[in-house]
Amino acid sequence: MLYSSTRGNAPARSLRELLSRGTAEDGGLYVPEAWPELTSSELATLSGRAYDQIASDVLALFGGAEWQQCDFTTGIRKALAGFERNDGPPLSRLDDQMWSMELFHGPTLAFKDYALAPLAEAIDRELTITDKRATVLCATSGDTGAATANAFAGRSRANAVILFPEGRVSDVQRKQMTCLGAANVQAISVRGDFDDCQCLVKNLYQSEAAKEYSYTAVNSINLARILLQASYYIYASVKIHNDCGQPVNFAVPSGNFGNVFAGYIAKQMGAPIGKLIVTSNENDVLPRLFETGMMSKAETIPTISPSMDIQVSSNFERMLWILKGRDGNATRDMQKQLAEKSIYELSQSQHSRLTKDFDAMKCGKDDALNTMRQIHKQFGKIICPHSATGYFAADQLRATLNGPIVVAETAHPAKFPTAVEEALGTLPETPVRLEDLFAREEEFTTVDPTVEAVLSVIDGIFGTP
Ligand SMILES: *Cc1c(COP(=O)(O)O)cnc(C)c1O
Repeated sequence: MLYSSTRGNAPARSLRELLSRGTAEDGGLYVPEAWPELTSSELATLSGRAYDQIASDVLALFGGAEWQQCDFTTGIRKALAGFERNDGPPLSRLDDQMWSMELFHGPTLAFKDYALAPLAEAIDRELTITDKRATVLCATSGDTGAATANAFAGRSRANAVILFPEGRVSDVQRKQMTCLGAANVQAISVRGDFDDCQCLVKNLYQSEAAKEYSYTAVNSINLARILLQASYYIYASVKIHNDCGQPVNFAVPSGNFGNVFAGYIAKQMGAPIGKLIVTSNENDVLPRLFETGMMSKAETIPTISPSMDIQVSSNFERMLWILKGRDGNATRDMQKQLAEKSIYELSQSQHSRLTKDFDAMKCGKDDALNTMRQIHKQFGKIICPHSATGYFAADQLRATLNGPIVVAETAHPAKFPTAVEEALGTLPETPVRLEDLFAREEEFTTVDPTVEAVLSVIDGIFGTP
């Protein structure tokens, strides 16, 4: 299978080639030329397997024979087998309709680990096969950076550079990026917001230095990462569907539209999925788009759920490409309009096609805090402020949806103790992994949001390659 650019003007590549690339040369994102389809018996077989096996099977479907020959599969299984729970994200039924899917049992306690730990193994394998080195660039609203730092720390063929927005990540998130003591990982605090960090990464790819440093991307612009996340939607939907025979809906706390797009991929592959509910905090660019058909950027507001403080949902470009009938030129024009005028509008038919698969809802601070109290009272469960937006939307929409609703719990509450304390009056228990982290020294540099400033830090630390 080959992958082409959403902007239609770059060479098609294999999944293996995408491991060591960021965006396509034309500035677009890679998308598969077709979705591999699974029959219901193939789906049932998959759901009966160990989770690390499911993830490597799904990637092998997308990667084809070359992927198998290069044995990326072993590394992916190894990474996931090292999770605290190897049997897939825990699913529990909360009431007659609501389920939880806890995606925070990996090494850095957020769903990002499910993709980044195996992706780091695959990238390492690719660098070994080709006898190369690379610099992994990562813009983060907090959790991707933590997962990236952890996944790449101590590797000999890759350095990792992590850009996070100054003062806009939680203390736990920052320490997870800055206390590793690994010489090949550098965290950089950027005087700006997440969108500035994301923009810097995109510009670094397009810069001259990109060729020297062989940058690669682990943000959700890296398609392999999204494909890895499709696995838990397949796993959960088949398991729950077996139980009740109805299509399974998911509520997904969203920012960059990566996680929920992985759910859409699972649905395209044939998984028994109903609606995908995109939930946001006050930064409601996505709910506004789903309601009005208009994508319009606003200022990013700092909230109690910082991992969703995003106004430019990069991955929506992949969805836009699908809505535009896979027309690269049309997609490029829309993205250009967004960059220049901060706005574009979907046609009526594109908008209705979108709302066939997706629903969306914003959840402000008061609703999130109330939901955290409610879920604690009803089910004795402490949830993080991101997951709260999912539970809020699931509760609001339950009467309108057929079948079960699974709330994707995207992070462990201990990553956001301030919000938990504000909601419940008590602090969540600190997992052992974090206690160890808190005892260590932090190390990071702060820069202005310019390519030159970031490059000078990279040059200073890792030297000219
Ligand atoms: C990254 C993140 C999100 C947003 O996910 P996207 O893939 O960017 O939509 C939501 N919640 C948490 C805890 C996250 O770390």
